[in-house]
Amino acid sequence: MAHVELQNVRKSYGNVTVIPNLDLTISSGEFVCLVGPSGSGKSTLLRMIAGLEDITGGTISVDGEDITNTDPSDRDMAMVFQTYALYPHMTVEQNMSFALRMRGEDRALIDRRVAEAVSMLGLEGLQKRKPAQLSGGQRQRVAMGRCIVRNPKLFLFDEPLSNLDAKLRAQTRLEIRRLHGKLGATSIFVTHDQVEAMTMADRIALLSEGRIQQVGSPKELYLNPANRFVAGFLGTPE
Ligand code: ADP
Ligand code: MG
Repeated sequence: MAHVELQNVRKSYGNVTVIPNLDLTISSGEFVCLVGPSGSGKSTLLRMIAGLEDITGGTISVDGEDITNTDPSDRDMAMVFQTYALYPHMTVEQNMSFALRMRGEDRALIDRRVAEAVSMLGLEGLQKRKPAQLSGGQRQRVAMGRCIVRNPKLFLFDEPLSNLDAKLRAQTRLEIRRLHGKLGATSIFVTHDQVEAMTMADRIALLSEGRIQQVGSPKELYLNPANRFVAGFLGTPE
């Protein structure tokens, strides 16, 4: 589990500032939904946490350690994207074990981690299939399996359900929450879908134009929106 602290985080692309100054603290074991309209800076923030994007100013720390300038591969976290590029020529288990094989982990550990992930994700019997022989939902689960086997302490999700149909989306939401609990992970889940955030989050951080409008439980935001933007975004009658 990871305790994450963002302090005075800023991001500019050239002379365009997309995140002016952002503070956010996430406790160990929390499931936080970062929600906001398209273009509000959600992906940018997540990518800075992952180290995939340069940070213009401020600090990011995990479990008290400043990781602002740590190489992405040395950050103990995993990111699940909307478009999950599986290796088409590899089987399910080869896709899932790839990162561990690259790290030179031993065979026994790899087999154990993959078997655990397969069982957790309900992918039994599909280990020898290639991505083309899987449904969209199964592929998304393999993509999560690739993250789970690395045993990260922080999961970052960037709209991972957007490509799924409504029924599968609802089901996968539950699965992700269940996995989060079972793994004892800390998760930051980005979505533009307020229903998704309301149903999944321990706490919601609502973003607009790179600024956090309010942070709180779904109930707090719904019952006591801090401003008109929050009320409007969550569909609260004013
Ligand atoms: P969200 O994920 O909430 O839709 P993004 O983080 O992708 O928002 O984008 C936030 C803002 O930053 C947008 O105005 C977007 O156009 C801008 N932006 C994102 N990436 C870049 C980039 N590489 N260069 C310039 N502007 C960017
Ligand atoms: Mg985005």
